[in-house]
Order: sequence, then C-alpha cells, then structure tokens
Amino acid sequence: MAATSFRPDVFEADPPALLGSACTSCARKAFPPRDVCPSCGAVDGGEPVRLSTDGVIYSFTVVRQAPPGLETPYVLGYVDLPADEVRVMSRIEGLAPEDVEIGLPVRLVARTDERDTERASLMFAFAHPTEEGRP
Ligand SMILES: [Zn+2]
Repeated sequence: MAATSFRPDVFEADPPALLGSACTSCARKAFPPRDVCPSCGAVDGGEPVRLSTDGVIYSFTVVRQAPPGLETPYVLGYVDLPADEVRVMSRIEGLAPEDVEIGLPVRLVARTDERDTERASLMFAFAHPTEEGRP
C-alpha cells in the first residue's frame, strides 16, 4: 500500500505533488497556499493549484547535527520551481553533500523512513539528466 502524505493539506504523496495557491487577481503562485497574495495583496485566498515537480537548486546547506533518529549529514536547500516561480525549502537527497551544486536539477519525491513507514514526507531528489532523455 502506498504511503499517505503527513500533510495532506500541502502535498500529495502518490504521485508526489505540492499543493499551492494561485492568486485570482494577478495569477502569482505561492507555496504553502496563502490567504493573502504575497505579490498584489489580494485577500480572496486564491485558487488551489498543483505545482510543478521539477526544480533547480537555488541555495543549500549541509546539516551535520540533527535530533536522534535522523541520519547526518544531509542537504537542506531552497529549490526554485521555474514553471511556477515559487521557491520551496526542502531536504535534497540523491547526491553526497560534497557533490551538490547550485543550479542542479531536482525533482519532487515522497519518502518514508523507518520512524514512520505509513506517512510520507516531501523532499527533492537529484534528477538525472538521462531520466529526461537528454544526453
Ligand atoms: Zn496577486
């Protein structure tokens, strides 16, 4: 059985999708969903929208200390979703911390761990260019 989202109000696990909002006045998208548009100040809440799952690393840091049960080091970063003009903070997996670079392509994934195999967390994983059929 597929895992479910630990935050069904902001992301779906299968298939992975971030649930944002799109302003009904200026069309600006936001994540997490906003009641007030961060661009034009409209207060009507906007429309719910699924955001792109393809991102690019904008910035990152390597986390070397964490609560018990969380393996370190791991990469935490800001990921830009160019199609939606939204920036998301997320864990980034799939590369050794020393190999992560600003500008690398990543894709949204849902992951469980041994602490909770039922509920998935969102994160971004390194997107290998060959997955897209590019050289
Ligand atoms: Zn707006």
